Amino acid sequence: PLPVLAVVGRPNVGKSTLVNRILGRREAVVEDKPGVTRDRVNYRAEWAGRHFTVIDTGGWEVDAKGIAARVAEQAEIAISLADAVLFVVDAQVGPTATDERVVKLLRKAGKPVVLCANKVDGPRTESDATDLWSLGLGEPHPVSALHGRGTGDLLDAAMKAL
Ligand code: GDP
Ligand code: MG
Repeated sequence: PLPVLAVVGRPNVGKSTLVNRILGRREAVVEDKPGVTRDRVNYRAEWAGRHFTVIDTGGWEVDAKGIAARVAEQAEIAISLADAVLFVVDAQVGPTATDERVVKLLRKAGKPVVLCANKVDGPRTESDATDLWSLGLGEPHPVSALHGRGTGDLLDAAMKAL
């Protein structure tokens, strides 16, 4: 069985866009509004000669429990299936209460985590990534999943964690 890298985070932070970058093709569903990706979709991926499974998470129909509970629920399942976790945060927004909730789950699981500070589209916004040190998950990797900026370094870090 291939090692499993789970991509977790709030809706709309750019998880599916990042998964498409990892796959080098347009397959994971990207939408301006959350709620499109099915709960979990597995893809076969390769980076630097290593083969692995990447899990995209989504499927956030807001129910009575609310979005934060749905995110936590989905993150918990994906984390349990993973050998390493790629935690995606929107660096333009900064850490939210929902992100903090996922951080707690990540701590509890004790699996290796690579922190992706997404939507750092240019050098001007590098400091948005620096702010994410406050999550206590180590180095935030500045990335623009949309433009491909920083994704190579992120994947190198993910391969070390896997
Ligand atoms: P998901 O819900 O976490 O899977 O997020 P998506 O991948 O569907 O992306 C949500 C929205 O954020 C889409 O409009 C994307 O085009 C946009 N997005 C994703 N990555 C980036 C990025 O690096 N920079 C910017 N500016 N927008 C991004
Ligand atoms: Mg998605």
